[in-house]
Amino acid sequence: MDCIRCNNQMVKNGKTIVGSQKYLCKQCGFMCTPHKKGYDVGFKRQVLDSLHSGVPKHKVAKEFGIDKKTVQSWVNDKAIVDLYTKL
Ligand SMILES: [Zn+2]
Repeated sequence: MDCIRCNNQMVKNGKTIVGSQKYLCKQCGFMCTPHKKGYDVGFKRQVLDSLHSGVPKHKVAKEFGIDKKTVQSWVNDKAIVDLYTKL
């Protein structure tokens, strides 16, 4: 895993609240998780389930420890909605 900014080797740096591996570049301090769309389907489904049951977005975001914008982007993402309805 190389840093996208400076191409140095990144080191593992704990996990996010949803369990994705986080990486840190010791060279420039850049942090990222390797898979940008790294939330698994089950997690997204739980989030969308909550929304479908009428929980407000900001509450869902807080509950799952994700950004409101992330929730919104999933709501807007047709591929995810399709995925959800297929499950
Ligand atoms: Zn770097």
